Amino acid sequence: MWSTAPTIAAGDLVIVWLTRDLLQPLLITPGKDFNSRFGNYRHNDFIGVPYGSKVGAPTGKGFIHLLRPTPELWTMALPHRTQILYLADIAFITSQLNIRRGSRVIEAGTGSASFSHSVIRSVGSAGHLWSYEFHEARAAKARDEFTRHGMLDIVTLTHRNVCKDGFTVIDTADSLFLDIPAPWDAIEHAKKALRKDCITRICCFSPCMEQVLRTVSALNDAGFTDITMYETLLRPHDVSQIPPLPSIDDAADKLKRAEARREEKRLKQIAQGQRTKRKRDGDSVDPDELDLKRAKTDKVTEEISVQVDEIAQDLAAPNTNNRFSVSKVMSEVRGHTSYLTFACLLPDISLISAPRA
Ligand code: SAM
Repeated sequence: MWSTAPTIAAGDLVIVWLTRDLLQPLLITPGKDFNSRFGNYRHNDFIGVPYGSKVGAPTGKGFIHLLRPTPELWTMALPHRTQILYLADIAFITSQLNIRRGSRVIEAGTGSASFSHSVIRSVGSAGHLWSYEFHEARAAKARDEFTRHGMLDIVTLTHRNVCKDGFTVIDTADSLFLDIPAPWDAIEHAKKALRKDCITRICCFSPCMEQVLRTVSALNDAGFTDITMYETLLRPHDVSQIPPLPSIDDAADKLKRAEARREEKRLKQIAQGQRTKRKRDGDSVDPDELDLKRAKTDKVTEEISVQVDEIAQDLAAPNTNNRFSVSKVMSEVRGHTSYLTFACLLPDISLISAPRA
């Protein structure tokens, strides 16, 4: 398995985080260079550096992060040999198939082994993954990866066409996942490979509805139950921290102050209009009445400026302890990947031991 040591050593696989959209796996090889958009790094300089470190570029411009591999990072960084499963689908399938420590799982095809790496971590050394791939070169590459990642005691990779030749195990798997173009051709074989002494689960990943319909028919014909289809779509939330919202009383106060500001503006405009008119008509307005209006306006102005100062103080010094998170849902939803068809296979009643009297 991947290194669990606190620092990076020669021969370790490291995930280099260059940007949010650019991650790269790197095998630390003394004497080699790592060329990046931020310049040339020497692998030797990474040895002994703690995992998770931020390393400045030799050019002084930019930086990278050196991360310990996880299945999630591996999915984001792996070399693509095929289309792959991404994290939202992987998480959902894992949960719906009830894959956990000790589970025995079958998958076909292996493809780029994105899903495989997550399953291997979930089942751990107490469980097992049987992975099937009919493309010889892809099977060889995946086997090579599993070997380098030290996972061969948890995964068995077989080069095989599961639609034609079925699976290599019988009555063994707790769950089975099919990511192949014609899953319906593998359903009868899948039924044989699943355990018969407990409820088992299957998932088929298909990009279009016609394929889903054929799969559902095949699942029905084979006696699977609880057939359900889902589509996983990502809706990003933009989360930010804001100061506490004002109470209803505070909000009402602020509205009153805003109203007072508007009133002040209106009185000023009236006074200005009267001054202009007086100039035109030759100062015919009673000067006492005018003074009274001016005094009134000045008082309102003074009160308002005090209130505005108070508000400014409130805003300038929010109580940071009471800040809370809010989220804005982005209108865009990430595009369709595939439909996920799940079904259960009920146990063979004769294989379930009768409850004690
Ligand atoms: N789930 C994989 C991942 O997350 O990386 C991607 C699987 S990829 C889309 C589908 C793979 O299934 C291809 O590599 C293909 O060669 C393989 N395949 C297609 N039909 C198959 C069959 N009948 N038996 C075994 N493998 C098959």
